[in-house]
Amino acid sequence: DKNRFSGKKVLITGASQGIGEDAAIYFAEQGARVALNGRKEDKLRAVAEKLPKISGGEHLIVAGDMSVEQDVDRVMRDTIQKMDGLDVLICNAGFQISCPSEDISLKDFQAVMAVNVTGVVLCARAALKYWREKNLKGNIIVNSSVHQQIPKPHYLGYSASKGAVGNIVRTLALEYARHGIRVNAVAPGAIVTPINDSWVKDPKQYKAVSSHIPMQRPGESREISTVMGFLASDEASYITGQTIFADGGLTLYADFENNWS
Ligand code: NAD
Repeated sequence: DKNRFSGKKVLITGASQGIGEDAAIYFAEQGARVALNGRKEDKLRAVAEKLPKISGGEHLIVAGDMSVEQDVDRVMRDTIQKMDGLDVLICNAGFQISCPSEDISLKDFQAVMAVNVTGVVLCARAALKYWREKNLKGNIIVNSSVHQQIPKPHYLGYSASKGAVGNIVRTLALEYARHGIRVNAVAPGAIVTPINDSWVKDPKQYKAVSSHIPMQRPGESREISTVMGFLASDEASYITGQTIFADGGLTLYADFENNWS
């Protein structure tokens, strides 16, 4: 439906590639006015060119590092000012660093937490402040991960960060439910995006990863964007504080598929 989100203003962090890029296209295709955040303006411009034009304003580019407080505050202020409002905040920016946990450097651990946790908190803070001051309803969607639930050895910061995201969503949801502000997360399994180039581009590893997924394949970004679309829409009007796992069955303890009795 081309008009599903018309009139809606949506900010997506980490929109220069992967799931964030696809979500931007998905929302714009359905009439939303989209603000694209990422660190590099040129990459965002390339994404902006892929977005269908909409009536009622242009899409926006708001570059900035979501782990830096001043950047987040500027990005949120510019977005709200230039789009004259904000309906949906999608905290999608995130990354991971691999390392045996006994060797993890404080710098790397903090860098992951800074984007995946602090960035979410800072963005949410600014959006909530705006909605409360104007007495508006709002909608926050965070991109979590199956690693909110499934441990990820060698990725201690990432596991910790996504675990935190689950409780950030639940806490904010409870705090703001009475004000008509919904807060939810989507938790993707293995999705074909640049973050996974190491196995996506290697046929052997691609097969190995697929064999561990009950549905026997990784997911596509669009299979995450559609969940974000659902959560952003009025179809999800009674849902808050939830994490929806979109993971091809990865969280189902797949080893039990072949009944061990
Ligand atoms: P990606 O690496 O392709 O894209 C991540 C995006 O975030 C990029 O645009 C990147 O520039 C941006 N970003 C990173 N640090 C940033 C910062 N400090 N400030 C602003 N932007 C920043 O990864 P993706 O797979 O599209 O991941 C998007 C989200 O989905 C992440 O939060 C990730 O944890 C989550 N996720 C991905 C998968 C997967 O399999 N791809 C699975 C579970 C969760």
